[in-house]
Amino acid sequence: MITRFAPSPTGPLHLGHAFSALTAWDMAQRAGGEMLLRIEDTDRQRSKPEWEALIEIDLAWLGLEWPTPARRQSEHEDDYAEAFDQLVSLGVVYPCSCTRGDIRAALSAPQEGAPVSGPDGIVYPGTCRGRSMASRRDGDALRLDIRQALSVLDGSIAFLETGEGLAPRHECDAQSLIDGTGDVVLGRKETGATSYLLACVWDDALQGVTHVVRGRDLFDATPVQVLLQGLLRLPTPIYHHHRLIRDETGRRLAKRDDARAIARYRDEGVQPADIRRMVGLQPSGAMSSTSAPSRKAL
Ligand code: GLU
Repeated sequence: MITRFAPSPTGPLHLGHAFSALTAWDMAQRAGGEMLLRIEDTDRQRSKPEWEALIEIDLAWLGLEWPTPARRQSEHEDDYAEAFDQLVSLGVVYPCSCTRGDIRAALSAPQEGAPVSGPDGIVYPGTCRGRSMASRRDGDALRLDIRQALSVLDGSIAFLETGEGLAPRHECDAQSLIDGTGDVVLGRKETGATSYLLACVWDDALQGVTHVVRGRDLFDATPVQVLLQGLLRLPTPIYHHHRLIRDETGRRLAKRDDARAIARYRDEGVQPADIRRMVGLQPSGAMSSTSAPSRKAL
């Protein structure tokens, strides 16, 4: 079993990240496998080396180990270019010059109805669909033509899931991919960099990840990632979407929740075993990791 923890270095790790990393670590440990660390820093503007350094300090303090150096996505644009080439040759991507404002304007037409949000933000209305790759200009984003992609791929898009309370097999319905996900961006216009959706799929395969352990907030990104795996002929790992750690008001923790940053707890003298208890995990080495988190501790 190979699991991974794949944070974006855009802020401090908080209790939710600790839970995710510890869950990936515990699963691998129990199976005699390995957990990898991958730095998902394709968003060059928001990613900072100081956050990456702190991530490594926090994880080591929690007692985790991983093969070093960790893979840093910003250093592998050539790999992702290969993925793009394959998608271009399948005819499933097109260039797009729409700004957020253009998308909002297109969606405000009376016949469009209320905009739908998917894993990549508002579902794209398709304004540039049909543009050829030859018409690509500097600064254009590359989008996946989801209908075209579905038609190239015959066979079902499905994945196995081991997250608590989730169906063990998830069959992705083509129409819900079209309506709820739409033509996602695979390369970002601001930086020319590869989007999370594609870089993550490529790296999971390249690194031999067998079990993707991550929060339920990413569940909706999975069908399009499985679709990309099919297009690129990559294996589909098993997914484990775990519960999310919430604050006392029930809100999911976010990077701005500095008060729950691991570094802050460490400075206050909290111990790694306390962090495990706070997120409802058994002490290190114990067999079960499914007890409920203690709200009070948060
Ligand atoms: N880099 C993503 C994040 O920090 C997680 C990606 C994943 O686990 O698939 O939200």
